Amino acid sequence: MNTSRPTSAATTDRHDSGTPVLTVDGLTVQFRLRDATVQAVTDLTLTVHPGELVAIVGESGCGKSVLAHALLGLLPRNATVTGRAVLHVPDSGPVDLIGCGERQLATRVRGRRVGLVPQSPATALNPVRTGRRLVEETLRAHGHTRAEAGAGAERVAADVGLDPVDLDRYPHELSGGMAQRLVTALALAPDPALLIADEPTSGLDRPLVDHTLDLLRGRCDSGNAVVLITHDLAAAERVADRIAVMYASRIVEHQPADRFFSAPVHPYSAALLDALPDRAFRPVPGHPPMLTALPTGCAFAPRCPYVTDTCQRQPPLTSYDTGAVACHQPLNSGAPS
Ligand code: SF4
Repeated sequence: MNTSRPTSAATTDRHDSGTPVLTVDGLTVQFRLRDATVQAVTDLTLTVHPGELVAIVGESGCGKSVLAHALLGLLPRNATVTGRAVLHVPDSGPVDLIGCGERQLATRVRGRRVGLVPQSPATALNPVRTGRRLVEETLRAHGHTRAEAGAGAERVAADVGLDPVDLDRYPHELSGGMAQRLVTALALAPDPALLIADEPTSGLDRPLVDHTLDLLRGRCDSGNAVVLITHDLAAAERVADRIAVMYASRIVEHQPADRFFSAPVHPYSAALLDALPDRAFRPVPGHPPMLTALPTGCAFAPRCPYVTDTCQRQPPLTSYDTGAVACHQPLNSGAPS
């Protein structure tokens, strides 16, 4: 892909040591429906360190956004969440994101230590507040004076490429791209230790896409952490330190970004890269399985050119020198077979 990193984003796993800002272990999310169960996230393990940008990629409906909402306690009542997710930030003790309850999430986590750029900005914005007032209220809630909040609103608007004139509009007066930039400004305003950005570039034209990505990269280069949820592999390649690939509710490959883009190990990862316009431009064949009817074996089997009888067993996510893969026949050397 013809992308260039704006800064010195690490391309090896330089964040292995030190206290992570987020550890997720065995996270599983199910939704109970009247006559079915949606297996949205399965046994997901992830670690994110300060200064690191981890991109979670995969086709729509694979569970990426559910993961973000599970970490912030934003799932509907029919969801069941098991496993562990712990936030570690310097100014407080560890916070058990799954078990701490709504009160702690609302007062200690959401919008304070963890910011969220939501996927649907139109529904996330209070319709009776201008953008300026929304940002100022956010800053005031985090201890800034009125004057500081006023100046801060202008600053974060400029950071995301939002014209000050547009800051005085109501949400219904904003284009999709402007609304996207406003929710990004709201998430960045409190300077959270961890930012979860769920498709933060949707609705933006290419220069603003790059501007937003570089803004996220800049946060990591100054010591904060970002989890970027995206189906845009070009975006991930531009800024990510590490890539986690989700398919049918599971992480199937986890690699340093440079290794992922040069030598993908899981057949699904290779198919995603082959679909890019500047590579083979060949779509991934077939469709993902329904999350209400996942197979007992490898969920990618019906689409996989390498499938064998062995694949009727679920491949475990197995670590190797630089990453992890869930496949019985990984593609490149260095991975377990
Ligand atoms: S486990 Fe089998 S079907 Fe699944 S990705 Fe690997 S080779 Fe393909």
